[in-house]
Amino acid sequence: MIKFFEKDPYAPVQYVYEVERVLYKSKSNFQEIMVIENAFFGKMLILDGVVQITEKDEFFYHEMLVHVLMHSHPNPKNVAVIGGGDGGAVREVLKHQCVEKVYFVEIDEEVINVSRKFFPEVSCNVDNPKVAIKCIDGAEFIKDKTGELDVIIVDSTDIIGFAKSLFTVEFFKSVKNALTDEGMFVTLSESLHFHRDLVVEVQEALRLIFPVVDLYTAPIATYAGNWWTFSAASKKLGLRDMRRKYNIDTRYFDEEIFHQSFLPLKIYEKLLNKRLPW
Ligand code: SAM
Repeated sequence: MIKFFEKDPYAPVQYVYEVERVLYKSKSNFQEIMVIENAFFGKMLILDGVVQITEKDEFFYHEMLVHVLMHSHPNPKNVAVIGGGDGGAVREVLKHQCVEKVYFVEIDEEVINVSRKFFPEVSCNVDNPKVAIKCIDGAEFIKDKTGELDVIIVDSTDIIGFAKSLFTVEFFKSVKNALTDEGMFVTLSESLHFHRDLVVEVQEALRLIFPVVDLYTAPIATYAGNWWTFSAASKKLGLRDMRRKYNIDTRYFDEEIFHQSFLPLKIYEKLLNKRLPW
């Protein structure tokens, strides 16, 4: 049996997956794209040697990336998903009837096409009429927007290479400028077990720009470190309040998960002050 050895740039461990079949392998203008099949996880999308999604567990990540802030925000109508070429985040955003427009800003069109072909249940809504697909760098896209987006969601690859442009103070400034007065922002920020310095770095950068910054987490089986973090920020409203009723169809997220996902305040404070006892 062939094996796939993941090449995660930051992880102190290496995951190895048995490969039933290699379904696709090619190089786009931006990265190497591969789709393999594993007996337990089903089809897996791999970019530059790093697992992005698996059929088995993608919903944990996509639901948690999207629905927490979509419930903190009182009435999200205009949303931007930056990255997220597989379409999973867009699928979740469109579960909210109040959403009128979704900018889907993926630098690599090839990822969207591969996902259309191999992950129809993930990419199922990328061609919805409410979605405007923009194949450019998210940092460039956001620069031109002023006060018009309710929620901005970053679903990028790890914080290296061209994804780095989405984690700079400059980018966070543009995000703030692009948001409406009650606007909110969320981005992945790696694992609390393995990448704590990175988590704190993203939090500190957001704190330079936004008055409200917070952190919530979710268990993701296929991302190294597993205890995955999402860094969130808001121009005005607190993020821990659930302002909308939960009435969408999800497999993991619900009201209880919303509240439970935010890092307990004492732990959060210790994390930021670099005083966690482990
Ligand atoms: N859920 C996945 C994870 O955390 O591993 C991310 C999946 S999604 C496929 C990541 C996408 O972000 C990739 O398709 C990549 O091309 C895109 N991306 C990375 N940097 C970007 C940028 N600066 N602007 C727009 N898209 C970007």
